[in-house]
Amino acid sequence: MNVNDSEKILFILGKEGYLPTKDETKADLIILNTCSVRKKPEHKVYSELGRFKKLKKNNKDLIIGVGGCVAQQEGENLLIRAPYVNFVFGTHNIHKLPELIKSAKSRKQKVEVDFYKEIYSLDFQGYIEDNKVTSFVTIMQGCDNYCSYCIVPYVRGSEKSRSSKSIINEIKLLTEKGIKEVTLLGQNVNSYGKNVKGELTFPELLKKINLIPGLKRIRFTTSHPKDISDELILCFGELEKLACHIHLPVQSGSDKILFRMGRGYTKKDYLKKIDALRKIKPDIAITTDFIVGFPGETDKDFMETIELTKKVEFDEFFSFKYSDRPKTKAYFMKDKIPEKIKGERLKVLQDIQKDITMKINNKLKGKILEILVEGKSKKNNQQLTGRTKDNKIVNFQGEESLIGKLLQVKIEQVFPHSLKGKII
Ligand code: SAH
Ligand code: SF4
Repeated sequence: MNVNDSEKILFILGKEGYLPTKDETKADLIILNTCSVRKKPEHKVYSELGRFKKLKKNNKDLIIGVGGCVAQQEGENLLIRAPYVNFVFGTHNIHKLPELIKSAKSRKQKVEVDFYKEIYSLDFQGYIEDNKVTSFVTIMQGCDNYCSYCIVPYVRGSEKSRSSKSIINEIKLLTEKGIKEVTLLGQNVNSYGKNVKGELTFPELLKKINLIPGLKRIRFTTSHPKDISDELILCFGELEKLACHIHLPVQSGSDKILFRMGRGYTKKDYLKKIDALRKIKPDIAITTDFIVGFPGETDKDFMETIELTKKVEFDEFFSFKYSDRPKTKAYFMKDKIPEKIKGERLKVLQDIQKDITMKINNKLKGKILEILVEGKSKKNNQQLTGRTKDNKIVNFQGEESLIGKLLQVKIEQVFPHSLKGKII
């Protein structure tokens, strides 16, 4: 979501006449887009700002702005801790950037962190860079779930769906500009349209998007296990453009911890959904998120997380050590787990998953898979990179003119996070 916000920020700045630079000493304006979902990225904000402060010595006119979730959370406090910052803007205020820059130029410090009923900051059209093949499209903002560990509802506000008309228009515009794949974004896409009279449901929205000419693939993230409907599960069998992949964050394999997290499902409920998905689409790739070391997590609870990991055999997962976030319910829970134990548990879980991922990836050796070519590989500029329908990254040798095409590749080598292939 933050990456998508950054794209919108770049688009607005472009309209204001700014060009991007990779050399910060040459910048007239630096905007730090921040994340506060865990403590670590929040701390990083202040160290980055410290670096930018030094740049102001040589460039008195340098403007520094801070946006995103830390900006939302800290508001005016951010200016107390970093008084050289020119403006602070929250998650609902991206559209205010031109005004904020104008004030900064006349040496007025400003903070804009109000929440709005309307979705002003999402309704941008046509912000995509040239030569891009795949794009995020935000379909809703905020969250009303208040999982006990999570800061998102406090920094992104309550759940609101963007109008399906605006979403579909945006995707049409993107495909006209060459986009072949969209990833629909929301904290809980399964509840899309629920609070809006006459609005489409999420499966209905998917069906409409599936009809857009020129679009080849549809992905979405994130869907909450408690709200995944039978209708959505059926979409995986019916919609030919829908990716063969679902990210379904489970967080823990222990019912006691799931209850304390306020997730609204049990391990059994989760496994039922996985069975239903695999029944409709046997080869569907399933990925998840885990939090280890949640307050009160015993060795036994952690063992249940390991058991679930082995039982489901996820294709991959994101795993995090529990991080205390201000205002959340878990912040006030007593039986916190020491950092050392959290670290040990994380390593155990990640090692187990590495073996599972390799087992799944090894089965792909020698197979011919269809990939959408996304661009040059980040690690090796001589190679191209693409993704299979089940979200595996494939690197291969090829001409730049292939970017944006769907190609058949034969898988020759497999690694934990990517595959290497050859065009056939
Ligand atoms: N809306 C999504 C999650 C968004 S946050 C969902 O409900 O699935 C992305 C991930 O960050 C979460 O799935 C969780 O695993 C992790 N996360 C969120 N808050 C956290 C915290 N306080 N400590 C550690 N990990 C956290
Ligand atoms: Fe956070 Fe839970 Fe909302 Fe996801 S569903 S954003 S984890 S509160």
